[in-house]
Formats: sequence, C-alpha cells, structure tokens
Amino acid sequence: MIYHYRDDDGLEETFEAAGDAGEATATARQMLLGGWHGTVTKTTRLWADVTPEGETLGWRVSAEIEPPEPACAPGGHDWEETSVQGNGGGVIVTSTCQRCGRGRIKNTWDHASDGTILETVTYTETCTEA
Ligand SMILES: [Zn+2]
Repeated sequence: MIYHYRDDDGLEETFEAAGDAGEATATARQMLLGGWHGTVTKTTRLWADVTPEGETLGWRVSAEIEPPEPACAPGGHDWEETSVQGNGGGVIVTSTCQRCGRGRIKNTWDHASDGTILETVTYTETCTEA
C-alpha cells in the first residue's frame, strides 16, 4: 500500500509499506528520525501526518529526538541526584556528574511544542544547584 508522508517541517514523501497501519507508522517514525539532521539541547518530539493513498483521513505519527549526552572523563558520567521537585503531574530531577561537574535535568512533566506531555532531558555545562 502507498502512503503519503508530510512532517511538520513541510517535508513530503511517498512510501510503500506492506501490511497494516502499524507497519506504515513504524516506517514513518524511522523517516522522522532519519530526516532529522539538526541537534537538540533538549528532548524534542517531532510529528508527521501519514495518509493512505486515495484517502483524505490519515493519522499523526510522533518520534522523540534525545539530546546527545556530553562527553565526560574516562569511565563516563557518574550522576548523583541533587534535587527532586514536583512539577505538575511529574517531577524535575536534577543530577550532577561527580566526574565532570555537568548537570542533567530530567523533567517527567514537560510539554512538547504541540502541548502534549513529554518527558525531557537537558544537559548543562555546569552544576545548576544554587
Ligand atoms: Zn560527567
């Protein structure tokens, strides 16, 4: 079956997927991740519309891009939680690496650009603890 793909950046493509909608969704998700060439500093959700050829109604497909984890000393990061605070229906967990001093902020109740709830990760150059 032929599907039309259009991501929120305006990229349009046509692809073929065998079988059911699940197969088309998986393919579209791969296209979202593969088509992303920028870098993010915070977890970002991308969206695309998938519509079967000859139909007007499709569905939305999303995929999350994670920010690259910064380099650390040999042995890798050694994260230690320095604070946990409530945030809406979730929490914000701030950690500091015991080796390089970078910070990591995990927000389990953040929002994507479309307003949906999204668990995000952000890395900071230095410890953000006041
Ligand atoms: Zn580190």
